[in-house]
Amino acid sequence: MDQIFTPWRMEWVSRQDWKEISDGCVFCEIYKKGKDREFGVIAEDEYTYVVLNNYPYNPGHVMVIPKEHVGSPTELNEEMLVSHSRLKVRALKALETAFSPQGFNTGLNLGKGSGGSINEHMHTHIVPRWEGDTNFMPILSDTKIVVEGMLETYRKLHAAFAKQEGVENKGEEKSIWVSE
Ligand SMILES: [Zn+2]
Repeated sequence: MDQIFTPWRMEWVSRQDWKEISDGCVFCEIYKKGKDREFGVIAEDEYTYVVLNNYPYNPGHVMVIPKEHVGSPTELNEEMLVSHSRLKVRALKALETAFSPQGFNTGLNLGKGSGGSINEHMHTHIVPRWEGDTNFMPILSDTKIVVEGMLETYRKLHAAFAKQEGVENKGEEKSIWVSE
């Protein structure tokens, strides 16, 4: 699916760049780079991080990803599962605060048969939805307009996370650290 972005897109890492982050697994590397805003990492704790999808289906499309390289939640231990759930709920709350969507799609594509693009490292998608937001599709054929720029999306979500309790804000360039 081709996508048309506002000029913010020019400030964002390109599709090419995200794949150049690592020869190996991009989801293992992206939170280690210390360039949180550049790579869209919005929040994290010891076991999990939340990142903007570089190829969003809708504005505010984020992924909740374990720092451990695992293909399925069946491979996560208890602490990691709790962390994953907690960050998912916090992401939903931050998205509600920032964008007031009318609904969400959230879920996992697991295994090669699922149709997901990265199968080796699990990631929970959270897609904010608005009534009629898919109506662009038939009009524009293969092209979907992401109305809001990704950096602006990052700023709003970062600010929404920063308002939550039990978090540490190290500034807009860095991810919000979730401590409880
Ligand atoms: Zn990985």
